[in-house]
Parts: sequence; C-alpha cells; structure tokens
Amino acid sequence: KEITTKESNLAKIKVVVRKRPLNKKELSRKEDDVVSVYESAYLTVHEPKLKVDLTAYVEKHEFCFDAVLDEQVSNDEVYRVTVEPIIPAIFQRTKATCFAYGQTGSGKTFTMQPLPLRACEDIVRLLHHPTYRSQKCKLWLSYFEIYGGKLYDLLSERRKLCMREDGRQQVCIVGLQEFEVSDVQIVKEFIERGNASRSTGSTGANEESSRSHAILQLVIKKHNEVKESRRGVTDANESKSGKVVGKISFIDLAGSERGADTTDNDRQTRIEGAEINKSLLALKECIRALDNDQIHIPFRGSKLTEVLRDSFVGNSKTVMISCISPNAGSCEHTLNTLRYADRVK
Ligand code: ADP
Ligand code: MG
Repeated sequence: KEITTKESNLAKIKVVVRKRPLNKKELSRKEDDVVSVYESAYLTVHEPKLKVDLTAYVEKHEFCFDAVLDEQVSNDEVYRVTVEPIIPAIFQRTKATCFAYGQTGSGKTFTMQPLPLRACEDIVRLLHHPTYRSQKCKLWLSYFEIYGGKLYDLLSERRKLCMREDGRQQVCIVGLQEFEVSDVQIVKEFIERGNASRSTGSTGANEESSRSHAILQLVIKKHNEVKESRRGVTDANESKSGKVVGKISFIDLAGSERGADTTDNDRQTRIEGAEINKSLLALKECIRALDNDQIHIPFRGSKLTEVLRDSFVGNSKTVMISCISPNAGSCEHTLNTLRYADRVK
C-alpha cells in the first residue's frame, strides 16, 4: 500500500474538545449534565466545526471547534481524530505535539495514556514499510515532567534535568534518558514505570500530579553508522545514535484550575500555581503565534514552552485536546477550558 502524506492538507493546529460522562459521585448527587454536544459527525473528511452548548443555568454559551467528542466516543476514536492523521508527517521532518488541557478530573490522563501506545503501533508499522526500512530508522522514547518549573526524568529515578540550547534552535535536555522501543508492550512498561515516579508528594497521587506537566516523547531517528549504545540506553543529547527525523510529544498538562492557586495559604502551592498559570498562558501565546505564522514565537515565557521550542518552529503540527467535565458543579472551570480552547483555535 502506498503511503500518502496529506501533510499539506492537514491543519497546523487542531482543537478538539472531549466531554467525559458524569461519574458515579456526580450521578449520586443527581448533578445536571450542562454540556450538550450536537452535530457529532466527527469523522468526516472536512473536519466541520461542531458545537458545544453549555447551558449554565441562565447563561447559554456556544462554541465551535474542529471536533467535539461526546461521552460515547471511545479512546480509539479519539486517536483516529487527533493523532492518527499526523503520524505519516513525523516521518517527514515534522515535530508534532498533542496536549491534553483541562481541570483536574476532566479526563486528561484517561485520554492521553492510550495515545502513545496507538501511535507506537502505527510508527513501528511504518518503520517496517519498504519506503522507510532501508533508512534504518529507530524509535526512541523519553518521559519527563515539569514540576514547579523544574524538569525531572520519569525514567531515571526522577533525576533532576536541565535544559540547554545549542545555538541552532535545538533544545537539549541534559541527561534525559532515551530508550529504544520496538513494540507496544515495551512502551506500555515505560509509561507505567514513568507514571509510578510522577510527583506524588505526601497528599496522594492525583493531587500532586495535577500540578505537573508530563511529557512523553517518541522520536524517530535515522541511523547511518550504527554505533551500538549500551543496552539500548543512550543520552538523548549525545545524538551519536542518529539524526532526528521527526517526533511526537504527548503532554498531559497540569490541572488548569491549579493556575488559580496563587492565593493559597501555602507558599509552595502559590509558587507552583503561579508557574502553572505562567506556562498555560505562554502555551496559548505560542500556539496563537504559530497559527498566525509569526516569526517570533514567545517560547521563552515558561519552562514548558522553552522545552517545546523545537516543536514550535519549522514543520509543526499541534493538537489540543480540551477535556471537560459535564456536571453543573464544574461549569465555571468548563467555561474557562472552552474559552482557552477557543483562543488557540
Ligand atoms: P485528569 O487527568 O484530567 O485529572 P482523569 O483522566 O484522571 O482526569 O479522569 C478522572 C476520572 O474520570 C478517572 O477515574 C477516569 O477513569 C474517568 N474518566 C475520564 N474520562 C472518561 C471517559 N471519557 N469515559 C469514562 N471515564 C472517564
Ligand atoms: Mg491526570
């Protein structure tokens, strides 16, 4: 089968909204579902603008996005709408980024976790395709988090990392471990291992991890001279092991409501809240600049955008998945999320 890259037809930025179902707790409290999705013809070729109708008691708000996925939509379908179309492009020098944005509990992690697995399946299949097989490309994985503006390697005992620029607009994360991955099972194991080392603090997993951005990268590298690395492990920056062909980053963002923690009694929480607020604002500005083909991308606004610098220049594809909770109690956060998504589209 011929591989066709409809890259030029693909939008540079795609904004998708996903609504989760009411959970048990919300159902037992008999909370209203205030989000209605209509025209859910999300799998059509022309990516029609769809609508979310948020009836927050008296107010009514309508939004249109590239796609709106209701609570019936499976993770597989989410993959088909968001990531699948851009996979061929990452074999052609594209840096792709897929974000999950939304308040804590809106389904970011639920949405994000399966995506790298499906992507890996498709990438590995293409690596074996006659078109690419002769190029000796390999797939590499790294997984790190940004917490309080600092970088930690999730696959290396949360080792603290620092970032450097190499003068050619390439971002180097010094010491970040990259692992060669050749099948989905290995990717799954790395994700589980990484998740286990995400910030948990003393208050429990979800509480703390909602204050960090988790970044999983799949990088395709071309290997001309094959210098075997130790047990398939190599430092991401000693690019001895190949030239980057393209990559895709999956980013499970910090809970959007955490950016408002700036008045909390606890000083540490305030600092973290300010950092999250700064990074989500900077991200919005970068995506907007990208969309307007601006030459100057304000990536220096935060650690998050600095780290993603090379994904904001050259051939890039950005998918923003905005996750929303349907319950009336969340409508303020839901509106904020939809407004944010509306600004980047
Ligand atoms: P977040 O990462 O945004 O804090 P989670 O992904 O942890 O939120 O989701 C919160 C809870 O809701 C989890 O128990 C998750 O399994 C459930 N959930 C989220 N989205 C969906 C969905 N689309 N369908 C079914 N359950 C979901
Ligand atoms: Mg989460």
